[in-house]
Amino acid sequence: MIIYGSKSVHLKSERSEISVCPNCGTQGSLVLSVYRRHAHIFWIPLFPIGKKGLSQCQHCKNVLYTKEMPLSIRKEYNLLKNKAKGPLWQYAGLGILIITIVCAAISVQLES
Ligand SMILES: [Zn+2]
Repeated sequence: MIIYGSKSVHLKSERSEISVCPNCGTQGSLVLSVYRRHAHIFWIPLFPIGKKGLSQCQHCKNVLYTKEMPLSIRKEYNLLKNKAKGPLWQYAGLGILIITIVCAAISVQLES
């Protein structure tokens, strides 16, 4: 049985000072968060699939996903997304795969 799927890792959260919550109208109450998804097989992360994010209002607890964000909030989110760097271990499986291929190539060369 092959166990695979994808998982999201939290990268960065930042409170927005200027954005206004579209739900309750409170300024500076939105916290923007960036996540990065990665594919995994047998719980070993293979490679990142992409970033996604959301904002939550600390006042009314309203959650907005990137698609629902007004343009001004999405702009701020995009800035945060570009700053947020994902951890290298999300490439672990890909690294193992490359090492395996390189080792296999070397052993094939040694045999011939
Ligand atoms: Zn709100």
